[in-house]
Amino acid sequence: MNKPFIPQLVYFEPNALDYPLGKELKEKFEKMGIETRFTTSHNQIRDLPGETDAQKYRIAKSTLVVGIRKTLKFDTSKPSAEYAIPLATGCMGHCHYCYLQTTMGSKPYIRTYVNVEEIFEAADRYIEERAPEITRFEAACTSDIVGIDHLTHSLKRAIEHIGQTELGRLRFVTKFHFVDHLLDAKHNGNTRFRFSINADYVIKNFEPGTSPLDKRIEAAAKVARAGYPLGFIVAPIYLHDGWEEGYRHMFERLDEELPQDARDDITFEFIQHRFTKPAKKVIEKNYPKTKLELDEEKRRYKWGKYGIGKYIYQKDEEDEIKSHLYGYMEKYFPNAKLEYFT
Ligand code: SF4
Repeated sequence: MNKPFIPQLVYFEPNALDYPLGKELKEKFEKMGIETRFTTSHNQIRDLPGETDAQKYRIAKSTLVVGIRKTLKFDTSKPSAEYAIPLATGCMGHCHYCYLQTTMGSKPYIRTYVNVEEIFEAADRYIEERAPEITRFEAACTSDIVGIDHLTHSLKRAIEHIGQTELGRLRFVTKFHFVDHLLDAKHNGNTRFRFSINADYVIKNFEPGTSPLDKRIEAAAKVARAGYPLGFIVAPIYLHDGWEEGYRHMFERLDEELPQDARDDITFEFIQHRFTKPAKKVIEKNYPKTKLELDEEKRRYKWGKYGIGKYIYQKDEEDEIKSHLYGYMEKYFPNAKLEYFT
């Protein structure tokens, strides 16, 4: 994806127009000649176009719903943050393995919430409750928020809001490179900007509708130069022909682009490819031609919560992945904080 996301169709909850952002978005989309409709609730869109489930799914992923976040009780987001800050839900990307397919079920459209000030006030109350402890908010639990922020700037406002607090911290992750409008945000070092990166093969085959590796790394370098603490998620680490070479290339590109002084306060999260039975079912429905290897026989079973276990790589495969990736980390990012998830 080389151009920022533009929705094909936009729904508004009528009350969203009582908020400045709602009004602004309505005018903006009308000027752009995009069809706008009204819906009574962002939780229920009844007349989405499309004949088949597959068509409806594709259309939903390019549909934006502008609504009001009524529940101002934030979900927890342990262990990496205390709370999920709800700025948006859904994503225009088509990553075959994306967990939103299972969590969002029949509502894959993208929702953005215009009552940002109320959301920030709720965040402030959470910060106050935990004082003098730090309170961390994750903004990308249910969306790739950077991918739509060029339209709304709510993430930018959240960065600046949390930047003004003493005890609040913000984090999010993205697969998009449209970061320019965030570079001058007054983040005050309180936001960790993370990019999800991978070997080219994985991006090309399993992440349609997202930015290419080179663009993500260029964007990460810009963000680092703008003084944000930086992080990377390498997920899913996926075994494929030439994977050693693919991940080596990824680290070499990072090494070429990233300023040296961004490497002391930097985090890496490695997450191996895994899947559950319900996820496999929904992936095969949404992306029937995927090359993603989802063969239970080849994997090791790891028991999980609520009886839904994960199929993960065999122990020897895991050891090999670790030995390669840890080698690169030692070479290029010896001071990084590193976490590994199976
Ligand atoms: S970019 Fe992230 S949220 Fe969007 S489809 Fe891909 S994995 Fe899912």
